[in-house]
Amino acid sequence: MEVIFSFTQGSAPIFMEEKLLHSENKVEHIPFVCFVHELIQKLHSFSHLQLQDIFGGFAEMEPTAKVVSCGPSGLLQSDELYNYVLTTSVYPREEEILKELRETIANHPQSYLATAPDGGQFIALLLKLLNAKKTIEVGVFTGYSLLLTALTIPHDGKIIAIDVDREAYEIGLPFIKKANVEHKIDFIESQALPVLDKLLENRENESSFDFAYVDADRANLKNYHERLLMLVRVRGVIVYDNTLWGGTVALADPSSAHPIRQFAWKDTIEFNKMIAGDLRVDISQVALGDGMTICRRIC
Ligand code: SAH
Repeated sequence: MEVIFSFTQGSAPIFMEEKLLHSENKVEHIPFVCFVHELIQKLHSFSHLQLQDIFGGFAEMEPTAKVVSCGPSGLLQSDELYNYVLTTSVYPREEEILKELRETIANHPQSYLATAPDGGQFIALLLKLLNAKKTIEVGVFTGYSLLLTALTIPHDGKIIAIDVDREAYEIGLPFIKKANVEHKIDFIESQALPVLDKLLENRENESSFDFAYVDADRANLKNYHERLLMLVRVRGVIVYDNTLWGGTVALADPSSAHPIRQFAWKDTIEFNKMIAGDLRVDISQVALGDGMTICRRIC
């Protein structure tokens, strides 16, 4: 068995695919995401022996090894239970166009990046409870959560959607057009932080958003939080995805986790700690998808 890492994107986030080539030439693709700076930072912090251990570990891994949260059961205790939730409560209520998008991207090599449909249903409910009209999305990918938001907010609602990857956004764009919700979306191809800073240069944007959804790079979570607390109104909501990081946040030491989960493990744990102590927000952390933290701005 041979392990190959292929870096399919050049700059900020990199989508890596672990290809396990079995002796009989059967190829197994195990996708995962990490970010260049996270990767470089961590690699620098490892000693030569640790690196040997990590990459040697890949080579010895069984072909069935997976990133913890990439399994069909998400964070639930079994695939059957997760399937029960999906087939009972989620799929019957999922809009047809969202289902079409989800099924279309199912074969995309990074389809696991899309917001889980159960997490999406939860976001839509929050948007309705808030009567949200003006929202921000950091991390669009092929647009499952974006389309869901656009379908949920009113006809004159607005979403500022930021992602460095226009190509992925364009995969979902025909579905957005078909649903007749493109007019609600302002897609900005960029690193998210400068866009949030730019928004804050105009005082009219302060406290003007009802809702924000963050589903992008881990290392910037604290930076996004500070900006979004100024952009989202009091009693508005910010949702952060991936806050349970495949369940690995409960580990005392990440060395037993999949090596890729080790990259942003510390960032996620530090973010969770920071949010728990942030008295400017009410919070709830739920085990949907890869873990979501909901923050309601108090003051
Ligand atoms: N919410 C999406 C999934 C987002 S996946 C859905 O439901 O389909 C994460 C996305 O974050 C990727 O598309 C990646 O390009 C984007 N991303 C990562 N780091 C970023 C950054 N610093 N600025 C903007 N986008 C970023």
